[in-house]
Amino acid sequence: MQNIGEENINELEKAHMDFISTVSHELRTPLTSIRGFADTLLSSYDRLTPEQREKFLLIIKDQSNRLINLVENLLTVSKMQSDKELLVYKSIDAVQTAEYVIQIIKNQYITHKYILNKEKNLPKILVDSDKLQQILMNLIDNASKYSPDNTTVTVDISQDYDKNTVTISVKDEGIGIKSEDIGKIFNKFSRIDSPLTRKIQGNGLGLYITKTLTEKMGGEISVNSSPKGSEFKITFKAATPEDNGLKKIKE
Ligand code: ADP
Repeated sequence: MQNIGEENINELEKAHMDFISTVSHELRTPLTSIRGFADTLLSSYDRLTPEQREKFLLIIKDQSNRLINLVENLLTVSKMQSDKELLVYKSIDAVQTAEYVIQIIKNQYITHKYILNKEKNLPKILVDSDKLQQILMNLIDNASKYSPDNTTVTVDISQDYDKNTVTISVKDEGIGIKSEDIGKIFNKFSRIDSPLTRKIQGNGLGLYITKTLTEKMGGEISVNSSPKGSEFKITFKAATPEDNGLKKIKE
């Protein structure tokens, strides 16, 4: 049995306490706001104009959505950290998954344009379909929310014949990430604080989840960014003919 030293236990405990403290803070902010606006509606309902009432209700709805996203992300983190999580690997068509995710995200960012470029004869990849969806959802949602209205998000899917891999790139024309911040963005609860990001909602778990899931499935993630925009790339091994019994990777 592995011997865990006292120092390691203290470190684990500290990480645990830090986690609880961050989560509590993340939960308290939207909850305080929900309670505050609900109180105002209850105590001053007759004195408020219909517009004010609607505005307060919309804030309550918005903050509830923020809580739901946070709790869903926390559940994903907790599942990822337990060894019990079952990944169901199947040969998946990355193009179909990207199309599906773009379809959903498009409805939320109506002024953005979405382009999907795909190389011909792409092989499938061996991944868990739900997890690939979650990864692309995070990347395409980030590309959309960290870029101004009326800009384009481009998804490119290509293959590397020599390495036998498929790469999905998600590129935006957004605010970019400074080189000194790039190392932090994949950490748990890490958000880059700037006047531009402060207005955008998030909990800093998306990229941590994205990187952990990608690597769990044997993939790699990388990022390139400039003040003109960012590009995130995820790469997976192509499925072999034995994986699905039908695909030859190279003609
Ligand atoms: P969040 O919930 O804050 O969006 P993420 O873990 O998805 O959390 O991202 C971490 C941080 O990385 C974000 O808060 C943001 O500062 C930065 N970031 C992520 N994606 C992009 C992007 N496409 N463009 C600019 N900044 C980004």
